Amino acid sequence: MYFYKDGFLEKKDLHISPDDRGYYFGDGVYEVFRVYNGRIYEQEAHMQRLQKSASEVRIALPYSSQEIENILSKLVHENGIVEGTIYMQITRGEAPRAHPFPKDAQPVMLAYCTDVKRPTATIQSGIHAISFEDIRWLRCDLKTLNLLPNVMAKQAALDHGVQEVILHRSGTVTECSASNFMMVKDHILYTHPANNLILHGITRAVVLRLARALQIDVKEEPFTLQQLQQADEAFITGTTVEVTPVIHIDGKPIGSGEPGPITRKLQNEFERTFAV
Ligand code: PLP
Repeated sequence: MYFYKDGFLEKKDLHISPDDRGYYFGDGVYEVFRVYNGRIYEQEAHMQRLQKSASEVRIALPYSSQEIENILSKLVHENGIVEGTIYMQITRGEAPRAHPFPKDAQPVMLAYCTDVKRPTATIQSGIHAISFEDIRWLRCDLKTLNLLPNVMAKQAALDHGVQEVILHRSGTVTECSASNFMMVKDHILYTHPANNLILHGITRAVVLRLARALQIDVKEEPFTLQQLQQADEAFITGTTVEVTPVIHIDGKPIGSGEPGPITRKLQNEFERTFAV
């Protein structure tokens, strides 16, 4: 069962207009939630980010937060999701193609669940990555549907036979195609500051909170690809990848070439935040 526009229906009965501005312009915002044990993880934080993204691109949410939460919870429940994800997006609405905001279009919401499981194999083994120029716009803090640079970057990784890209702006590491990036050097955890150049990941915030509680020094400051080469450990954070070690970048091992001890500690702590 899906939610579309103003009601619940089956996917096969869902008709999307070619005039939807999400389709023409990527003119919309979205969120991806994780469901653990039938419960929506960090729902409040996701709702706040959705509100921020929508308000900054001047889309009026068609429902109150409470109404959206009720819709999502009904989707999880009715689809019998115990472990999975929720995808939701809100576009500016339907109107004949023209750049200005349409006068009387109604924002359109789409939401559905998946039963996609946790990526336990790569969480355990770690992944390989390449560095890749970050060519995105200057509002990467907004979770908008304009994901073509992210798509291109991810595909470049796969074409190189690795799983992810480490994005950088003129050598300064920002984040990854669909996750945030962190490195450990001399027991200090480094990650790009939460400004306009990265998405303010919900998982990033949880992991930084856990690190501080473990008395790990956290530095939210920019670092370069060159500094990254000297890192002891590296990992990515995100709703779908959780805390996944990065063990090789551009063909060279990070530290020992195995997931490091601080990464493992944060993985364990992270798992405890959703364990029953
Ligand atoms: N950075 C980008 C570009 C993303 O697309 C995502 C998630 O999709 C993240 C970071 C991680 O954010 P979160 O932890 O809220 O899933």
